[in-house]
Amino acid sequence: MALKKPSGSQTALREANRALLFETVRKFGGLTQIELSEATGLSTATVSNLVRQFVEEDVFDTRSTIRSGRRATLVTLRRQLGISIGIFIGKRQLSICAMDFSRTVLSSHTLPLALDHKVDSTLERAILLVEETITALGAPTSEIVGICLCVEAPVNKLTQQVAIPGILRGWENKELRASFSSIFNVPVYVQNSAHMGGLAEARLGSARGVENFIYVHASDGVGAGAFVNGTLLRGVTGLAGEIGHVQVDPLGPICSCGNRGCLNTTVNEERLVSLLNVTHGTMTLDDLIKLANDGDPGCRRIVTDVSVRIAEVTAGLCIALDPKLVVVGGKFAETGDLFIEPFQESLRRLLFPDAMTPIDVLRAQYPDGNQAIGSALFALEKSSLAVSFPTPEVSSSTGTTPSETTAPKKEH
Ligand SMILES: [Zn+2]
Repeated sequence: MALKKPSGSQTALREANRALLFETVRKFGGLTQIELSEATGLSTATVSNLVRQFVEEDVFDTRSTIRSGRRATLVTLRRQLGISIGIFIGKRQLSICAMDFSRTVLSSHTLPLALDHKVDSTLERAILLVEETITALGAPTSEIVGICLCVEAPVNKLTQQVAIPGILRGWENKELRASFSSIFNVPVYVQNSAHMGGLAEARLGSARGVENFIYVHASDGVGAGAFVNGTLLRGVTGLAGEIGHVQVDPLGPICSCGNRGCLNTTVNEERLVSLLNVTHGTMTLDDLIKLANDGDPGCRRIVTDVSVRIAEVTAGLCIALDPKLVVVGGKFAETGDLFIEPFQESLRRLLFPDAMTPIDVLRAQYPDGNQAIGSALFALEKSSLAVSFPTPEVSSSTGTTPSETTAPKKEH
């Protein structure tokens, strides 16, 4: 891209505004001109002028869209060569997502996995799926810029291995990156799936533009990702947000983590479907969710009970972090208001009664697919090829450079 050399304070201000606008589009992937004006504090006229300039320079694309029933101009980064791959490995599911630098999902696939699937065979399937996906996109594997694998288990951020034995059985303390990096020769990352679900909602989903929020993933087990000032809070070891292992019953059963009475001993597929054995016979969590959506009273009762139980634990996290919003994803979020309403009611009951702004609760935009999307975003944002805005020269009188004031926050 050709950039004009700045000179004088007016030009410096203009370049600072350009950098701010560019970083905002980069951070959120695609925003309308009005949203850009709100996010940057720049006037709509300034945004419109700068966007036109970026389009002429082949940096941005614009297209018509509808927001709140009105026509609007959506601004995105122009597609660049380079694809990031996000992979989600859960207890029973393997998902993959391919994404380009405009943060468009180019392709996504999901395969079922057997319970207690093995590391070697699952990674082999994942590698095959990456190769098939790239081939189907008509791209060479050399176009891959990074791969992020997220797993439904706590991940030690230093070793990038599953940290706690028993949660994704057989996956603990295994090196998961080597087989990908030896084949694709790109950086490979391993992350926790609830953290990546939260990242997807932060950048492209229900928490777009919200700096302080908590993402709660409610499925067969519960996890969370807390975002503080726009940054994912991972903690010293990477285990921040593991609310599934908060004790809710000191006399309860032993959890897969080895502790007693964790939230996950009450919110797990085996236990929840067993509550319906007498009335409904053998079923899965997917059956339970479907029947709840079809109006089955027993299944609806389980969904609302689970909602209240998870909200009670989430309340503690909200008191600690004071977020603006809680976004709920996972299979339970697929029941919509049936889960969200009792969740919000319980949360508000447990938080300060006279809160200045009552906390919002929203359903995830991608309730059961955001982990792979978030992983692809993570790999993209880590990529050294990621589009970067050249730091303009700024006259010393302004004190700071735009890059200092608008640099995107890194996920650590
Ligand atoms: Zn536990």
